[in-house]
Amino acid sequence: MICDNLKVVETNIQAACDRAARNRDEVTLIAVSKTKPLACLQEAIACGQVDFGENKVQDLTEKYEALPKNLRFHMIGHLQRNKVKYIVDKVALLHSVDSLRLAETINSEASKKGVIVPILIEINVAEEETKFGVTCSEVFGLLEEISKLPNLKIMGLMTIAPFVSNPEENRLIFRRLKELSVDISAKNMNNVNMDILSMGMTGDYEVAIEEGATMVRVGTGIFGERNYV
Ligand SMILES: *Cc1c(COP(=O)(O)O)cnc(C)c1O
Repeated sequence: MICDNLKVVETNIQAACDRAARNRDEVTLIAVSKTKPLACLQEAIACGQVDFGENKVQDLTEKYEALPKNLRFHMIGHLQRNKVKYIVDKVALLHSVDSLRLAETINSEASKKGVIVPILIEINVAEEETKFGVTCSEVFGLLEEISKLPNLKIMGLMTIAPFVSNPEENRLIFRRLKELSVDISAKNMNNVNMDILSMGMTGDYEVAIEEGATMVRVGTGIFGERNYV
């Protein structure tokens, strides 16, 4: 079942790349396995999936310990500063940095462990009150400060688009994030790389790819509905 779903998602990704005249290898599929048991991840691994997304520190560390070390775990959820120490040396990419305080904590824990942590800045493009992330105008000041932290490597931007029934409604959100990353790139800031754009979920990843996503985060479309117990 999970393998079949992965094949469908793969076909859709390829089709979106074709429509946008992009190479398939520009887009990484992150299988969002939050709330799902190890068996589901193992099924996906058996079908070749390597990148997984989790939104809770404890789940990420448990799955990291239990599974092969060639996998890449992405932290996609809001991160509390007191839990940073548990994941800095386990996470392939931290998608949800949205304050200098959090960045400073990551930097100091990374320095203790002797690692450099790749991060994305989470942008609240639609300025929804219920969401984390900085606004498009706040990001420049934040980058100036975060880019000075030696144990962080800024790799790009991430956004969680609004929940909509028609994915076309999010096209301008994705376009705006892409434009923002181009504007940031043009400033040639030290230690600021804008290669990664993490945007698009089950409902809208094809539109996100057409607008320039380099990482899509797909949960339901691969593992089915989540039951929160
Ligand atoms: C849960 C989650 C996803 C995946 O959502 P689906 O709609 O199930 O694909 C993607 N990104 C983030 C940040 C999430 O929390």
